[in-house]
Amino acid sequence: KAKERGNNFQFYSSSLNGISVRKMELENGLRKALEFNQLMLYYQPQFSLTTGEIVGMEALIRWDHPEYGFVSPSEFIPLAEETGLIVPIGKWVLREACRQRKDWSKAGIADFPIAVNVSVRQFEDDHFIEYTAAVLEEIGLDAGLLELEITESIMQNLQRSSYILHQLERMGVLLSIDDFGTGYSSLSYLNRLPIHKIKIDKSFVQDVPFLVSQEMLVKTIIDMGLNLNYIVIAEGIETGHQLEFLRQNDCAVGQGYLFSKPLPADEIEMYLERNKSG
Ligand code: C2E
Ligand code: CA
Ligand code: CA
Ligand code: CA
Repeated sequence: KAKERGNNFQFYSSSLNGISVRKMELENGLRKALEFNQLMLYYQPQFSLTTGEIVGMEALIRWDHPEYGFVSPSEFIPLAEETGLIVPIGKWVLREACRQRKDWSKAGIADFPIAVNVSVRQFEDDHFIEYTAAVLEEIGLDAGLLELEITESIMQNLQRSSYILHQLERMGVLLSIDDFGTGYSSLSYLNRLPIHKIKIDKSFVQDVPFLVSQEMLVKTIIDMGLNLNYIVIAEGIETGHQLEFLRQNDCAVGQGYLFSKPLPADEIEMYLERNKSG
C-alpha cells in the first residue's frame, strides 16, 4: 500500500513537472514565434441563416511550434495574457487580419467584415485605439470592414471600456461581444455600450438538443438580442438539428464546423470560388 502511494506521488509530481516544463517552453517559444513567423491566421466564415450568404469572417490565430506542432490558442493565449506577450501578438493579429481583408477587397471579394479577437489586456492597453487607427490608415482599410470581438470581462473596468468602445465606434469599427452568456455582463450596462453584435458561446449551442434548459437560454439570448437591435450570431454549430433550432428561433447568423472549419486564407479563397460557381 505504502509503496503504491509512493509511486502515485512520484507519478503525480513528475506529471506536474511535465506540465510546467511545457508551459515554460511554450512561454519562451512564444517570444520567438512572432520573430520566426510561426504564427498564422486561419479564417472561419459566418453565414446568414436566412440567405446562406457569407456575412463575416473570423480570424483565429494558429501557432505551428517547431517541436510540438500546432498548439491550441486555448493553451497559449492565456500564457500570452499572463506574460503580456498578448500585446505584441495582438498587434500582429490585427495588422495581419486587416492586410488580408484589404487583399480580398483588391481581389473583388465581397464586402464582409473581418472579425478579430481582442483580449482584455490588449483592449486596455493605452495605445490600443491609436494603434487600431494607425493600422486602418496604413493599410487603407475601411473601418467598417473591421470587427472587434471582445468579451464581457471588459465590463470589470466599465468606465474605461465604455470610453474605448465609444472611440472605436466613432472610428466606424464594428464591435461584438464574444462568448456571450459565459461572463457576468450586466444587461443594463450592455445596453449603453455601442455594441453591434452578440455571439452566443458554443457551449450553449452544443447542448442543443440535449438540454432543455440550455435551449431556453439560447432562445432567451436571441430574443433579448433582437429586442435590443443586436445582430445575434451563434458559434459552434455542428449539426443540422442545431441549425434548425437556431433558424426557428430567428437567430440571424451562424458559424461552425457544419458550414466550415477555420481555414488558411488560400483555402478560404478556393472555398469562396467554389461557392460562387457552385
Ligand atoms: P473563440 O473566440 O470563442 O473562438 C471559437 C473557437 O471555436 C475557435 O477555437 C474555433 O476554431 C472553434 N470552433 C469553431 N466552430 C466550431 C464548431 O463547430 N465546433 C467546435 N467544437 N469548435 C468550433 P480556436 O481557434 O481553437 O480558438 C480558441 C480561443 O482562442 C478563441 O475562442 C479565442 O478566445 C482565442 N483566440 C483565438 N485566436 C485569437 C486571437 O487572434 N487573439 C486572441 N486574443 N484570442 C484568440
Ligand atoms: Ca471569437
Ligand atoms: Ca473568446
Ligand atoms: Ca466562444
